[in-house]
Amino acid sequence: MTQDPISSRLAPHVKHLSAGDAAIAGSLLTIDLGALEINYADLVEKSGEAECSAVIKADAYGTGLEEAAKTLWQAGCRTFFVAHPQEGARARSTLPDATLYALNGLVGDDTDATMSYYHTHRVRPVLGCYEEIDLWSRYCRSIGEALPCGLHFDTGMNRLGLSKKAAHKLSDAWTTQPPPFTPTLIMSHLACADDPHHPLNSTLLDRFRAIRALFPDIPASLANSAGVFLGPDYHFDLTRPGIALYGGLATSNRPNPMQTVVTLNSRVLSTRHVPKGQSVSYGASEVTKRDSRLAIINMGYADGYLRTGSSSDKRKGARVYIEGYEAPIIGRVTMDLTIIDVTDIPEDAVKRGSWVELFGPHMPIDEVAAIAGTIGYELLTSLGLRSLRRYL
Ligand SMILES: *Cc1c(COP(=O)(O)O)cnc(C)c1O
Repeated sequence: MTQDPISSRLAPHVKHLSAGDAAIAGSLLTIDLGALEINYADLVEKSGEAECSAVIKADAYGTGLEEAAKTLWQAGCRTFFVAHPQEGARARSTLPDATLYALNGLVGDDTDATMSYYHTHRVRPVLGCYEEIDLWSRYCRSIGEALPCGLHFDTGMNRLGLSKKAAHKLSDAWTTQPPPFTPTLIMSHLACADDPHHPLNSTLLDRFRAIRALFPDIPASLANSAGVFLGPDYHFDLTRPGIALYGGLATSNRPNPMQTVVTLNSRVLSTRHVPKGQSVSYGASEVTKRDSRLAIINMGYADGYLRTGSSSDKRKGARVYIEGYEAPIIGRVTMDLTIIDVTDIPEDAVKRGSWVELFGPHMPIDEVAAIAGTIGYELLTSLGLRSLRRYL
């Protein structure tokens, strides 16, 4: 285990907990809105000539849609993407003047009620198939207004989006008769941008350029966070970062250039000495290899701390940061509790009430996610509602 020479940096907000909720909080989710603002400014700069939007789907990647949206608006962001219409409506109450797009398109029954939901909340659907184009056309004709929308073209994800053939058909049709709606964005999505050397990046770029050429007057967007880092060829008129705003790693196998936004802390509930050869936690999957000191922490998978980060005799689990040291998990992560091995840490440094960092500035979320067999995105969006939330 390594000692951090600046252990005094451990979560200053944790050390200043006062009365009320904070005093009885067993775990604390800290969202650093200042860091979010810095990350946005950084991505604006990296986006160069292109406008930099913000993706705030899934409760702004678990950080809280309202708080994130407000912060980003103050930082100068004017265009936002959500996935679902309800997220759009929520964002609209916080952002009365923003441009809002719903990436999943026209979600819901194919009725006017669905269409008017988008209309009322001024959420622009990103249309990704002919059926959606027909529905939006019909609705716009019925109200006699050419409402804005985005158009999604598939360049290689095989997820949402219209084909290249559809792009040709639409652009031909619209030269003779313009559509009954106003397309304000054409977009596509990169499949492998997290790997800058992946050959699909330039393939998708070429395909998107060809589609873009068919709609020269409509602003275009291709880049997610990783796409922003691929450079100006990928930026077009609008970039769409999500994960990098929230401090997650966008490009694999590179140092993360973003500031940490999310920190998860939890308390030690008790410590115990366990002799060598004893099994720990459910399933007896890990046995102490020596006389050990263990600390039980107030955090489990019901809080969003993934069970796949568990440890066993066969496979090492995630680690945590505590009082200037790193400590490994021992045994399985359970619903409400996780056990860590603090044998190598001085006895008086870890006691009942000590605060542990599960991830944050000392324990990168993407390292924890990798050990748990996933990515920072999933860890962020899994964060339960049980921790006390603090916004800095
Ligand atoms: C989620 C999403 C983004 C943001 O992706 P990040 O990798 O989080 O930057 C951008 N575009 C689309 C279509 C998305 O679904």
